[in-house]
Parts: sequence; structure tokens; C-alpha cells
Amino acid sequence: MHGFLAGKKGLILGVANKRSVAWACAQALRREGMELALTYANERLERSVRGLAEELSVDTVLPCDVTKPEEIEKLMDDVRERFGKLDFLLHAIAFAKREELTGTYMDVSREGYQIAQEVSAYSLPAVARRAASLMEGSNGSIVTLTYIGSERVIPNYNVMGVAKAALEASVRYLAHDLGPIKVRVNAISAGPIRTLSAAGVEGFNTILDKIAERAPLKRNITAEEVGETCAFLASDMSSGITGSTIYVDAGYHIMGL
Ligand code: NAP
Repeated sequence: MHGFLAGKKGLILGVANKRSVAWACAQALRREGMELALTYANERLERSVRGLAEELSVDTVLPCDVTKPEEIEKLMDDVRERFGKLDFLLHAIAFAKREELTGTYMDVSREGYQIAQEVSAYSLPAVARRAASLMEGSNGSIVTLTYIGSERVIPNYNVMGVAKAALEASVRYLAHDLGPIKVRVNAISAGPIRTLSAAGVEGFNTILDKIAERAPLKRNITAEEVGETCAFLASDMSSGITGSTIYVDAGYHIMGL
């Protein structure tokens, strides 16, 4: 295949359906020639993820629920067997119980807090640790997806904002850990996009309206725009960037009032 990612091999966690941000990333990465493996979180999703993979002529589709260490271990063993090495990893995973994405943050339950942190934040070091040995020496790149609710209060985002803050801090610590083996770690802070996960945040439509009104570009962003930035961060064109959070949000993050 041709393209600026030809010859590179990547692993994508977080494609659930065609609205998934990870799907737009997969399309951009494939278009630029990257060989890909996709994962599905549970058996319920296997068929649809296999169908999507077929559309991109991707034949490596593997299970991985990130809350199960043995599945992460097995995933990396399978990737090693099929690819031999890994150049790129996309972590596009988050989860919070629906009842935690409404009302006040102060009422967060211990269990709800733990689940959001485990799936949405702890999973990054958990997969990065096991991917690192496959990436060593290949100018590897790890990218995760975050949201501005980590640094500003977005009503109802609550426990997920706190998990995203932990995720962004993890990006910096991982960048420091993995820099010596030439693996870069970055986050894309995406503006709101209508996906299955986003639908769980109460008042999501209001958020979209406010961005269109207030962002410098006077519009919302598309998943495809995140995909293009993902391809850039996966490529050697971004070789000097690590530990960063790159905003793909129509400029919303610069606004005060
Ligand atoms: P999505 O399509 O629902 O993707 C979320 C993915 O996380 C799904 O594939 C989901 O699988 C997976 N996941 C949840 N729990 C998992 C587990 N235990 N193990 C493995 N995978 C698990 O929604 P999305 O909006 O594209 O979200 C992708 C990422 O983008 C998330 O980190 C999200 O926070 C971030 N993001 C989204 C927006 C937005 O507005 N949409 C903005 C900024 C950042 P299941 O379907 O099986 O649960």
C-alpha cells in the first residue's frame, strides 16, 4: 500500500460501530497504508467489528476487554505472532455508568468512580506496558482520546472528567517512561462528536450547540478531523511530539468568555 504510513503496523482499541471516533481513525490510518489489527470488547460486538474490519480489508480482529489483564496479555501475544512488531497503538476507550453522567459530581459512588478510572484511565498504562516491548526500536507512537472536561467543568461529565484528568497525566508519565525506547505518547482532546458513548452524557445536544456558537471556527468538529490528526501523530511527521495533548476542537479550548 502507498501513503505516509506504509510499512507501519497498528493496533486499535475502541471501534464499536461506524460512529466511533476510532473508526474514523482506522479509516485514515488505512488510507495512508498502515496495516491494522482491531479489537472488540465483548462477544456482543464481535460480529459488527469483524464486518467493519472487512470494509477496510483488515483481517486481524482480536478480543480485548481492558478490565481483564489476561486478555491484554493474550492480545499482545497475538499481535506479536501476527505482526512481529508494533508501530502504533490507539487507545479509544472510556466507560462510566450512565447514572454517574448526570447530576452532581459530589454524589459519585465509590464503585462508579473506580469503574470509570479503571476502564478510561488505568487501561492506558495497562496496555502501554505490554505494547512497549513490541514497539521498542520502531519509533513507536501511542495515542489516546480525551476531552476538555478533564480541565474545565462540563456539567454532567462529572466522573469522566476526573478520569480524563488521570488519563492526560498518564500520557505525560508514560511519555517520560517510554521516551528512552523512542516510543511517543500523546492525547487528542477532541471536541464533542455524536457517538454511542457521548449519548450517555446528559445534555450532550446542548454541548454541541454551545460549541457551534462559541468556538473560533463556529462549528463542531468531525470524527474524520480527529482521524487525520491521529494519522499525523502515528507518522514520523510528528517525531518531535510526545507527552502532549493536541486539541481538535475547532479552537474551543482557547476561549474565556
Ligand atoms: P464509542 O464508539 O462508544 O467508543 C467507546 C469504546 O470503548 C467502545 O468501543 C467500547 O466498547 C469501548 N470500551 C468500553 N469499555 C471497554 C472495556 N472494558 N474494554 C474494552 N473496550 C471498552 O464512543 P467514542 O465517542 O468514539 O469514544 C472513544 C473515545 O473518544 C473515548 O475515550 C471517549 O471518551 C473519547 N472522546 C469522545 C468524544 C465524543 O464527543 N464522542 C470527545 C472526546 C473524546 P463497548 O461498546 O463494548 O462498550
